[in-house]
Amino acid sequence: KEKARIIDKDGIRRALTRIAHEIIERNKGTEDLVLIGIRRRGVPLARRLAEKIRAIEGSRVPVGILDITLYRDDLSTLSHQPVVRQTEVNFPIKGKKVILVDDVLFTGRTIRAALDAVIDLGRPRNIQLAALIDRGHRELPIRADYVGKNVPTSRRESVAVHLEETDGVDEVVIMEK
Ligand code: 5GP
Ligand code: MG
Repeated sequence: KEKARIIDKDGIRRALTRIAHEIIERNKGTEDLVLIGIRRRGVPLARRLAEKIRAIEGSRVPVGILDITLYRDDLSTLSHQPVVRQTEVNFPIKGKKVILVDDVLFTGRTIRAALDAVIDLGRPRNIQLAALIDRGHRELPIRADYVGKNVPTSRRESVAVHLEETDGVDEVVIMEK
């Protein structure tokens, strides 16, 4: 059940514009930067960030994809495992500054799996994390370097992120389960 629309199309655009500027500023430009979107909705977000970075700095940052599936047999314990199913990273990772991009940061288990997968691909110089929404409830010592919006949620709530590329509309809605 829909409870509240917390971000509209303009809000998502502004958050991503800000994050693009933050990425460029913190990394002193775009040299050696790569973006990796976590399927499903981290991928269009990563592509939009790459497009904004190109508009701001004039340089192209490659975008890769990680497909990580959480087996939701037990929704809130460390025991249930995210599994990396597919990796589409068609560029070298060695020495790169890797920015993982996901729509929602929750327990942190997906990001933990993503970190292992990226490190397996090569030897990145560092790994950073951008999330459109941080909804709290972390179960691991993981935090995002770039956050669109912090949205404190109860465990009974979830956050629906709708993007034009995947859902036909840009909005973030809090849902009551
Ligand atoms: P984690 O618990 O590993 O941080 O999150 C699990 C995965 O499910 C992540 O890819 C995250 O984006 C997604 N996720 C967790 N909670 C929510 C939520 O409330 N809404 C949406 N859209 N995705 C969520
Ligand atoms: Mg996700």
